[in-house]
Amino acid sequence: MSQQNDVALLVNISPEKWPPRQRTYFGSLEIRAPQPGEPYALTPVRGCTGFLDFGDKRVMDYKITAREIADDLAREINSDSGDASFHGVFVAAGETPTPEELRDARERLDNFHRRLVDAADLEWERTKNPLFITDLERRAARLLGLEKPWLYNAKPLDDCPVCAEKIKPGVAVCKSCRAILNPEKAAQYGLLPAGAAHAATQPATPAQHATNPAPPKKPHSTHEAGK
Ligand SMILES: [Zn+2]
Repeated sequence: MSQQNDVALLVNISPEKWPPRQRTYFGSLEIRAPQPGEPYALTPVRGCTGFLDFGDKRVMDYKITAREIADDLAREINSDSGDASFHGVFVAAGETPTPEELRDARERLDNFHRRLVDAADLEWERTKNPLFITDLERRAARLLGLEKPWLYNAKPLDDCPVCAEKIKPGVAVCKSCRAILNPEKAAQYGLLPAGAAHAATQPATPAQHATNPAPPKKPHSTHEAGK
């Protein structure tokens, strides 16, 4: 078996981007995600030789086939969200994914997304609280093209510390009482009164005396008594 020919093909049908996978035997590998309009993306995986270091100058090398590596990577990504999760990555049996393989993967991915949406629906029915809907569930609904009342990542409102009216998190100025809640942000957008804006900008620290002589050298003969 030549190293050159030992290639397995990882197929990804989901647009989700994954951080590169790390393995001691090949370093880092990024699983490609399809661009908009692409039905899938391919990432070729090569076989490797790994080394087991037993210490004592005893090192054993072992071959890992491309298929083993590809299966391992697909398993890792697909199981990212629990036991029965599936994220649309599989290993093609041949040199290109067949229509059957693609259809099967699409079905598994849609099923997984539907289960997430069902779980979110249940949660929403119980709590009506968007904070209990996970990002994964929101993405599943978007990928299935579903409109859901819990789809939008609503942030809870804060209370203005000055007038106690409801305000959006992170605002610079209170809409109700005009209190400046975030001076830095307000200054950045020119929302501070002229005097306040000036006070908010710190004057540059004046340079230290340039004429200062370099610190005297430590006498290196100083010898501390040992304990
Ligand atoms: Zn206010």
